[in-house]
Amino acid sequence: MIVDQFGRQFRNLRLSLTAACNYACTYCVPDGKRLLAASSELSAQQMIRALKLLIDTAGIDKLRITGGEPLLSPKFDELLPAITQMGLSDISITTNGQLVPRKARLIIDSGIQRINLSLDTLNAEKFRSIARSGDLATVLRGIEILQEAGIRLKINMVPMRNQNHDQILPLLEYCLSRNIELRFIELMNMGHLQGSPLYRQQFFGMHDILGQIAQNYEYVRTDAPFDSTAVRFEIPGRGFFGIIANESEPFCKSCTRIRLSSNGELYGCLSSAKSYPMTQLLELPNPIAMAKLQDVLYGALADKQTLGFSGEVTVMKFIGG
Ligand code: SAM
Repeated sequence: MIVDQFGRQFRNLRLSLTAACNYACTYCVPDGKRLLAASSELSAQQMIRALKLLIDTAGIDKLRITGGEPLLSPKFDELLPAITQMGLSDISITTNGQLVPRKARLIIDSGIQRINLSLDTLNAEKFRSIARSGDLATVLRGIEILQEAGIRLKINMVPMRNQNHDQILPLLEYCLSRNIELRFIELMNMGHLQGSPLYRQQFFGMHDILGQIAQNYEYVRTDAPFDSTAVRFEIPGRGFFGIIANESEPFCKSCTRIRLSSNGELYGCLSSAKSYPMTQLLELPNPIAMAKLQDVLYGALADKQTLGFSGEVTVMKFIGG
């Protein structure tokens, strides 16, 4: 097992099925751009091989399927049943929910227990202006279908000043009344936001989020697991919410994540553009592939920050949010 001086090892893999997305969220994609698949994306079979190698070599035991929009990829239908047979302790999907009603049968039959769904507002007009595509009612229907099937949900919201920060309380009440844990993600200084004044203008951090919540609720901070990215709070008698406080309370020192992009690049840290190609390694016989992968993993682990998230020009959709 590969461990660094802070006791960090790779336990959590985020697998990006495709860089393509059916949304073009303002914080993820610059104006006028659409998200297309990356060139030379791995096939479903190559992803399965990569996953097995990473499980055996790095000791990965938790997987999150992400993208781009993972449900958009034809690979999703082939990969999902295969992944659930790999003996991982935890598998989840991060999706914008737009295709959930269409893919519900497949998801439910796969036995997946947890899904994180991204939703930045309950206002249909704001929804269109942030996601620049999609339909709010379809996402809400998807949430109902998943809940009826007993799948545990978390909702991810990125609060942005003067964009959707007035949606913090409505979304929190929506989640509390449905036993869904809401996660606020502090706006990350990534992609086109790097070096743009928009980032500072729109950043709405933990302090401000808690200020809004305090208007309507009493909350207490609770414990979170060692490698959790979220600071967790309880509203006694109602439920929980979390804040992924990349800036206000960085979690780099306990980060156990590694990312595999849809075109086969491994990333050890969101704050580093450094990546390690895995595609050729997939052709090699097991012992050689594992030895080579071990070297790669040492490099990727050394890329992790210790103090805090400093941002990167890399875009979340490529390396898997
Ligand atoms: N399409 C899927 C979805 O929407 O959940 C998965 C990919 S998306 C890149 C994963 C998560 O990254 C979403 O919750 C999104 O809100 C978040 N994200 C993307 N860019 C971000 C940024 N600059 N700051 C904070 N969160 C961001």
